[in-house]
Order: sequence, then structure tokens, then C-alpha cells
Amino acid sequence: MQKTTPRHSFIGVGFGPSNIALAIALKEGGMDKLGNSALFIEKQPEFSWHKHMMMDNTHMQISFMKDLATLHNPKSDFTFINYLHQHNRLADFINLQTFYPSRHEFNDYLTWAASHFDQQTRYGEEIFDVQPIIANQQVVALRVFSRDASGQTFQREANNLVMSVGGSAYIPEQFRHLAGESRVFHSNQYLQKIELNREAKKIAVIGAGQSAAEIFRNLHGRPEGYEVDFIMRANSIKPSDDSPFVNEIFNAEFTDYVFSKNKAERESLVREYRQTNYACPDLPLIEEIYDVFYQQKVRKDERHNFVPSTDIETVVSDQQGVHLKVKNRRTGEQYIRTYDAVVLATGYERDHYKKLLRPLASYLGDFEVDRDYCIKTNDNFQPKIVLQGACEQSHGLSDTLLSLLAVRSQEIGQRLNKSNINYSINSENSKKIEKVT
Ligand SMILES: Cc1cc2nc3c(=O)[nH]c(=O)nc-3n(C[C@H](O)[C@H](O)[C@H](O)COP(=O)(O)OP(=O)(O)OC[C@H]3O[C@@H](n4cnc5c(N)ncnc54)[C@H](O)[C@@H]3O)c2cc1C
Repeated sequence: MQKTTPRHSFIGVGFGPSNIALAIALKEGGMDKLGNSALFIEKQPEFSWHKHMMMDNTHMQISFMKDLATLHNPKSDFTFINYLHQHNRLADFINLQTFYPSRHEFNDYLTWAASHFDQQTRYGEEIFDVQPIIANQQVVALRVFSRDASGQTFQREANNLVMSVGGSAYIPEQFRHLAGESRVFHSNQYLQKIELNREAKKIAVIGAGQSAAEIFRNLHGRPEGYEVDFIMRANSIKPSDDSPFVNEIFNAEFTDYVFSKNKAERESLVREYRQTNYACPDLPLIEEIYDVFYQQKVRKDERHNFVPSTDIETVVSDQQGVHLKVKNRRTGEQYIRTYDAVVLATGYERDHYKKLLRPLASYLGDFEVDRDYCIKTNDNFQPKIVLQGACEQSHGLSDTLLSLLAVRSQEIGQRLNKSNINYSINSENSKKIEKVT
């Protein structure tokens, strides 16, 4: 089947918060022409935000005012406050006296915002390849390939690409040979995979961050009565620093400051403020977990173990379970423990986009970005390739978070709008083929 459609102004890869914020910025920022000819492609069958970590009692780690729009335009239709108003809960939310809605509620807010762009979004298609379209030795546009769950493939053309693919699960080396094992899984699959492991008795949770802590608490509270070893390399769990002066690193101006620095200075800034985001659960959650272990001591119960300062050396899986050979970093003691399931709350990698862009690699140098998040390209490469959520090294710690979505999307929108105007002048009336095979 073939049909004729215009070449898209850009294709957005993924439709998570970053690209929803961009869609809003275009709609409300007088950039309709660019927005209306854009297409967002999302691999999930419908919108959802970290679906398998959507546990009860989890809350946002950021003020609701850092929603998709407020920081740039508090009068936007897409603020969290307007969402509450539209859903008749504004007064009740105020009564909660919090800046931190539940994760369930924020997911509902994001779903509501995303629903305004259904016409411009294709759900259930995963982009797996991007190829250059070449004319007169210039790359003039991109051909984007996607596949749906039934295996049907699609190809479309776009002038530009906005990569907003989020993080992909980081699996430590020792566990990689167990890919596909249903007893060993990453936190990003937690709620789905724990259902397949209901018969498990002993579970290891690996990691010391917010996800590890939330999963420990969730396993502790489940009726199955799991025995959990909470294993981490760190010597203890440290809380996230969200104190006010430190929090200024998430202000918009700080992005300019980080970007103005050289590579070594940027790295040093990211290192200095790492504890605002990495391996640092919220203090109340740490206190809750401490209390679980304290009450165990009171009852002389040994159900769970807190196992800090521990390296996992090797992992073997057989019918008896998953055997972890571990080493205590303080004493050097080595021993083997066997589990029915292992949850890897080991964080995320942010360079998945490089794999998708591999066919363009010869034009993209070392993937360095400019201030507007566009990859610096050769002169013979016209499309803009924008990275959202993969620029922490150049733009600072806010880049992977929700903090500045409202501001960043505006900056990106304006940059794309400028190049779209040039494109429209150069190629008026051009129509291209979208093939559906
Ligand atoms: C459990 C959890 C809780 C968090 N809580 C907070 C918080 O409270 N505050 C905060 O600031 N940050 C939080 N974060 C950080 C998080 O990165 C951001 O909240 C936010 O999700 C970033 O949005 P994004 O659109 O850049 O990425 P994502 O939300 O990851 O969205 C990327 C989307 O791209 C899609 N996709 C990926 N590859 C393809 C492809 N090839 N083709 C098509 N679609 C594709 C994915 O399915 C996904 O929907 C949390 C992260 C996690 C894991």
C-alpha cells in the first residue's frame, strides 16, 4: 500500500514527557505550521510513564510546578493546575498541602496532556532505523523506519528528527548472560515481572537509589511475605539533596552556566551535584526502610537483610535458583547466596540514540551538541537532529529530568521553527512519498 503525504517537518522519536512538552510549545508558541506537520512515534501501545514502576505510595520527586508548561508559560492550558481544574480536583489537591503529587496522578496528568496530540502521534510503532536522503551530495532529509507489534514496517520522511527516547536499562556485566531469564529483571520491568515470580521466596534487590528503595518497600509490603536482601556497593544509603540552594542547579540559567564551561569543568559540576539525582532515595523513604529493619531487630526476626559495601562478582543460574557470588568490600569476605529472583535497580544508560543513528554516524562526528541540543553535523548534512534527555554531560543534571521541559522545549521549538521556515521557502509545494509496506 502506498500513499502520498508531505514530508514531515520533523519526526519525534518517542512520546514521553519531553516530546509532549515540545508538542505543547509548538501549539502554544505560534509555531503551528511546524507542529502540524510533525509526527511523534511511540513504541508503547498507548501513553504511559514508567508503567512498571507505578507503585502505590510513590510520589513525584519534583514540584508539580515543574510540569510540562508552567516554567515557560504559567497561563498555558497544559499546566498541572489546569489539569486539576479540568478534573474538578483543584480544591481537594490544595487540601493535600503538597508540591509532590502521587506518581499515579502525574501519569494521569501526562496522559491527559498527551491525548491532545493524538492526531500527530502513532502509538505502537518502534523506530528501528534512520537513513539519509541524499540529493546533489547533500543529505537533505531523513527516512525513518518503524515497526509495529505485528511486524508490519513503515517508512516516512522528515526534514528533522527529535530523539527523545529516554533511558534504557543498565544491566551490569555480571548479569548480561542472563538476558531473557524471567527470574532476573531490571526495575523498569518490575511490576510486570514480579507477577511472574509470585512463587519466589528469597529475592535480591540490587542498587541503592530511589527505585531500589521503592522496590524493597513494595516487596516488604506484599502479602507473599518475600524475604529480601537489599544489596548495594555503597557503604550506606544516602538521601537525595533537594535543599534550596543546591536545587538552583535545576534553574534554567544554570544550563547556560554548565554549557559555557569546558568538558572537564562540566564533568566536575555533574560530579559535584550527583547526589541530587543518582543513588539517593528521598529521606522519608530511607527512614521508612530503616524502621523496617529496626522493627525486625525488636522482634528478633531475620526476614530481610541489609547488605551494603558488597560487590557482586559472578552470577550463575540453574534449577535451584540464581546464585550470586559476592564480596564484602570492607572485610574481603566472599560467599555465595541463592535467590529465587533478582531485581536490578541499577539505573539507566542514555546513549541508545547512537545505535538508532548509526547509519548517519559518518555525518555526526562524536555526537557533540550545540546549545539548542542539535547534534553538530558536517556541512553537507542539512537535517537537524535534536537530542532530549541525552545531554547531561553538556547541559547539566536537569537534562534527564522533568525540571526544565517547559523551557527546553521552547528553545528546541524555536530552533526547529527557524530551519522549517528556511525549508518551506526552499521546497515549496514539495510532496514526498510515505510508504506503508
Ligand atoms: C521510575 C521513575 C521515576 C521518575 N520520577 C521522576 C520525577 O519524579 N521527577 C523527575 O524530574 N524525573 C523523574 N524521572 C526521570 C525521567 O527521565 C523523566 O521523568 C521523564 O520520563 C523524561 O521524559 P522523556 O520523554 O525524556 O523520556 P521517557 O519518559 O523515558 O520517554 C521516552 C519514550 O520514548 C519511547 N521510545 C524509546 N525508544 C523508542 C523507539 N525506538 N521508537 C519509538 N518510541 C521509543 C519510550 O517508549 C518512551 O515512552 C523518573 C524516572 C523513573 C525511571
